[in-house]
Amino acid sequence: MRRRVVDVLVPVALDRAYSYRVPEPLDLHPGDVVTVPLGAREATAVVWAENPKPNPRLDNRLKDVGEKLDVPPLRPELRRFVDWVSNYTLSSRGMVLRMCLRMGEHLAAERERVGVRLAGPPPARMTPARGRVLELFADRMVRAKAEAAREAGVSASVIDGLIDDGALETLVLPPEPVAQKPDPDFNAPDFSPAQRAAAADLKATLAKGGYAVTLLDGVTGSGKTEVYFEAVADTIRSGRQSLILMPEIALTAGFLDRFAARFGQRPAEWHSELSPRRRARTWRAVANKEASVVIGARSALFLPYADLGLIVVDEEHDPAYKQEDGVRYHARDMAVLRGHIARIPVVLSSATPSVETEVNARRGRYARLALPERFGGARLPSIEPIDLRIAPPPPRHFISPVLAGAMKVSLERGEQSLLFLNRRGYAPLTLCRSCGFRFACPNCDAWLVDHRFRRQLVCHHCGYAMPHPANCPQCNAVNSFVPIGPGVERLEEEVRELFPGARMLVLSSDLVVSVERLREELADVAAGRFDIIIGTQLVAKGHHFPMLNLVGIIDADLGLANGDPRAAERTFQLLHQVVGRAGREAGAGYGYLQTHQPEHPVIRALIAQDRDAFYDAEIAQREQMHYPPFGRLASLVVSGPDKHETEAYARALARAAPKVDLGTGAAKTDTLMGDDVRVLGPAEAPLALVRGRHRLRLLVKSPRAFGLSAYLRDWLAAGPKPKGSIKLEIDVDPQSFL
Ligand code: ADP
Ligand code: ZN
Repeated sequence: MRRRVVDVLVPVALDRAYSYRVPEPLDLHPGDVVTVPLGAREATAVVWAENPKPNPRLDNRLKDVGEKLDVPPLRPELRRFVDWVSNYTLSSRGMVLRMCLRMGEHLAAERERVGVRLAGPPPARMTPARGRVLELFADRMVRAKAEAAREAGVSASVIDGLIDDGALETLVLPPEPVAQKPDPDFNAPDFSPAQRAAAADLKATLAKGGYAVTLLDGVTGSGKTEVYFEAVADTIRSGRQSLILMPEIALTAGFLDRFAARFGQRPAEWHSELSPRRRARTWRAVANKEASVVIGARSALFLPYADLGLIVVDEEHDPAYKQEDGVRYHARDMAVLRGHIARIPVVLSSATPSVETEVNARRGRYARLALPERFGGARLPSIEPIDLRIAPPPPRHFISPVLAGAMKVSLERGEQSLLFLNRRGYAPLTLCRSCGFRFACPNCDAWLVDHRFRRQLVCHHCGYAMPHPANCPQCNAVNSFVPIGPGVERLEEEVRELFPGARMLVLSSDLVVSVERLREELADVAAGRFDIIIGTQLVAKGHHFPMLNLVGIIDADLGLANGDPRAAERTFQLLHQVVGRAGREAGAGYGYLQTHQPEHPVIRALIAQDRDAFYDAEIAQREQMHYPPFGRLASLVVSGPDKHETEAYARALARAAPKVDLGTGAAKTDTLMGDDVRVLGPAEAPLALVRGRHRLRLLVKSPRAFGLSAYLRDWLAAGPKPKGSIKLEIDVDPQSFL
């Protein structure tokens, strides 16, 4: 008799599932997590389908499934999600599955925790240290050895000695739970009327059940979190699981405390910084429903929830939701997709929704719940431009006297100021005064950034770094280097000059030594242990700093300069969010935007605090240009070490693009591309050289309702394949255009 065969999906860059024979004692079903031989190694994989009619001729060549792992099977919902994400993003199914199996090899191995407790009479030989330990254990409690040693103030060897003498004994402890059950009624807040109305609406959506997307649209500090916590509370009550997605893990620290204040327990956490063991345990806890709420970065979407009932996407507009390497997916969009597959509600929360989400809300595809005012009567900051043409900083300085004056007042009042500049390092460019030489990266089309703190010139694209040379490499001049433009480190120097006694903190991702340290620093800021904070976009998001009343944007024009279709949106969101850090509790908040173009529509909308004016203009423009969400984009980046070969391949690929007749009969013009599919390029990417690879970009534009992924798939199947070291990267719905 022939043996059963199953198709197994392996977490490597392959699209199709492979057939394996099922050894006799195993009873396998789709979703089961198994090990299979894969070449010379063994891989953890998932049974994707029964294979009822295996090819008999292949039977002898098929390998056997190894073992079935003792974890809950991946549910059909998650398997469908994997298929969908793969189909949509054009990533192989194996690579998408890999994101679901990120519990690593530690899955099966639970390290034992050893506890210690009192066992017999005190030993013959007593010492003060031994006395302290026995006193500690007099309560007959079980403690981990290290904890007991710490509590008693002794070394572990003292405890070992007492175990050897029989006064104490060891026992195996059950594993520490990943998360205790949160209590939905632990500490429900008193709501403002607006919050109460929004919470009631959300709860009604939840009670109705099924898929529905709600935009929780509230100004910064309006109390959106407390509102969606009510939806989480109801989900806990109904015994189902909730997922709260956050754009940055650094944000989750304060958030975990807030969650604990509301629900009495911290939730389970999921992000890349978890230790492998914690990761494995959390994975299991999510799969067996022990964890009822997960707070996580985008990868938490791929966890094997036993019974997911709600997804919240906090700061839904945040660009960090887009994964830019490997499987290129947008976590907000995939959250909506997952909600659709699981038939559950999705809540998108933001003070500055993405244009896509705003359009969906305007068209009634998403419900909108508005919180137009700050909680507790705090007022929104007033925002003023500082026209750098009229009130410029002194030469080689970057803080206008107007801003410096306002900071001085803040300092005297004992309030905090935040200076925002989205530029890491000391200066973005260094040149030689005598010959004009500029330091450029040898591998990329980019200048080297001066990082004085690290004492290096660094490329922000490939990480190339070199020490500061003493002489100019071109003309050999000594002491001839001048920094051009500001970075946060240079700003720090200027602030020190202006306010010598102030307590300052620079927050920039390259200065972060660990997430814990960053969390401590953020807590120090919240506690008022710093007067002036200088930061990159690391400080823009989600933090609640009660004493911060002044925000100065050093260069409001910075993000507007590039030709990226999303430049206006990004700048509006980022600056709005940064300024929104001011005045969240006591006192009035002030925001100052240093700009050379106060009449720019984005700057004007920010100053007038006229959000709708911004969206109206931006939406009209996108509609006219057929940009998302009114049309669709995909980007294909071809890269390779040899410029001519790379170009030749990119051109051949472009020629192979299938022609589509959408049968609209509409006249086609060069500028308006609403009704057809166009392939633009290849053209040199804005970053034309990265890590020694030349980059060319093809951009595909299609109507909104067009099956862009299928089109790309057909194209790539029929078109020339990248050979040798040429690489083709596909990004459906690109966020970055570099
Ligand atoms: P948002 O996320 O909309 O920016 P938050 O949810 O962070 O706003 O709320 C702003 C501040 O107001 C926080 O300190 C929060 O604890 C507080 N807050 C919000 N709602 C309430 C409430 N109902 N009772 C007490 N404090 C609240
Ligand atoms: Zn470089």
